[in-house]
Amino acid sequence: MEQFTGSFTQQEPIPEAAIEAANAVLRHGRLHRYNTAPDETAETALLEEEFAALTGARYCLAVASGGYAMGTALRALGVGPGDKVLSNAFTLAPVPGAIAALGATPVLVEVAQDLTIDLAHLQSQIAASGAKTLLLSHMRGHICDMDALMQICRAASVRVVEDCAHTMGAEWRGVPSGRHGVMGCYSAQTYKHVNSGEGGFLVSDDPDLMARAILLSGSYMLYPRHKAAPPPAAFENLKYEMPNISGRMDNLRAAVLRPQLALLPDRVARWRARYDVLEAGLRDLPGLSLIPRPAEETFVGSSFQFLLPDWPAAKITSFLARSAQRGVELKWFGASEPVGFTSAYRHWHYATPEALPKTDRILAGLIDMRVPLTFSLEDCAQIARILRAEVTTAFQAPETAAEPVTLASGD
Ligand SMILES: *Cc1c(COP(=O)(O)O)cnc(C)c1O
Repeated sequence: MEQFTGSFTQQEPIPEAAIEAANAVLRHGRLHRYNTAPDETAETALLEEEFAALTGARYCLAVASGGYAMGTALRALGVGPGDKVLSNAFTLAPVPGAIAALGATPVLVEVAQDLTIDLAHLQSQIAASGAKTLLLSHMRGHICDMDALMQICRAASVRVVEDCAHTMGAEWRGVPSGRHGVMGCYSAQTYKHVNSGEGGFLVSDDPDLMARAILLSGSYMLYPRHKAAPPPAAFENLKYEMPNISGRMDNLRAAVLRPQLALLPDRVARWRARYDVLEAGLRDLPGLSLIPRPAEETFVGSSFQFLLPDWPAAKITSFLARSAQRGVELKWFGASEPVGFTSAYRHWHYATPEALPKTDRILAGLIDMRVPLTFSLEDCAQIARILRAEVTTAFQAPETAAEPVTLASGD
């Protein structure tokens, strides 16, 4: 029996150029973004310029995390206590968390069969709730029909903030993910597409929103030192209004990230190659449904999902346990308890979730796997062979009681 021995949580090392840049910052000691020598431009300000160029945004702000970026975007839009904010029912806990942290109430929208937001349910939730903001999560890199979504939201005057934690480097019809809504939010956490341990970005073309975000992030009136920022005039009336909620990025993390931005296109191509091998290895397998990927979507295959539609829970837990024994760590969105990074909407009591039957049915059969770039193409082929064998065994087995299952953590 083949056994996989790779680690599903091991990312690539930090590139040498980034280590050298980080060492330079450590040697001069000016880690705070506003601590600069005369005529020096901070690493953080340079990173923002480079990330703005990468996404084609006019403005960019680097911050402490992806979750902070989302919270700041909502605050900049004026979301406050009691407001309703639409979001995907299928996402990760920091998304409803960003809404709940403002005292606002998430209004969750069903997931469609392709793991994107259900546009018909979005429309009915807009009508039922009167919410004027959507925090759209491109969860696990699946991008919905952005043309249709933006049309629905424009018609209802709903402002869209994009959570691009899994779509940095992805596009819809050639437009970078994060550039459809009024603000785009990204994460630079270790498990995402660039790695500074923790970190995040906000992008926007809107000078008023970005001035608010910069003031909120804790700019201590030093906003003229930002390069990818609106002109000082945009801050004039806002600087007395916006509270300081410190969540800045520092020069050490910026130094670690700058060389990684240049590597992003190469990473996207390598992730895609791995995804394609996994997908090809699992095609035409009875009991398993692959997730369709529309031609308009340029995606980053940093994780892989498939459905075991309407399988009894006992069969799924037995499949997960057997795969784990052969070294393939999977996560299941149908588990009754939140495990590691994986939780489901019904676990978010702070989000006062209503029952979402369509989402329940999809999550009950949804399997998720991380694909770090430390996996070779041959690794991915082997993982697919193991999964193919174990899906077949579990699918054909008569129904029995579940074996005990240990689920892996790690995003
Ligand atoms: C990781 C993640 C975030 C938030 O990123 P942090 O940097 O960890 O705060 C937001 N949304 C999704 C879907 C994520 O996976």
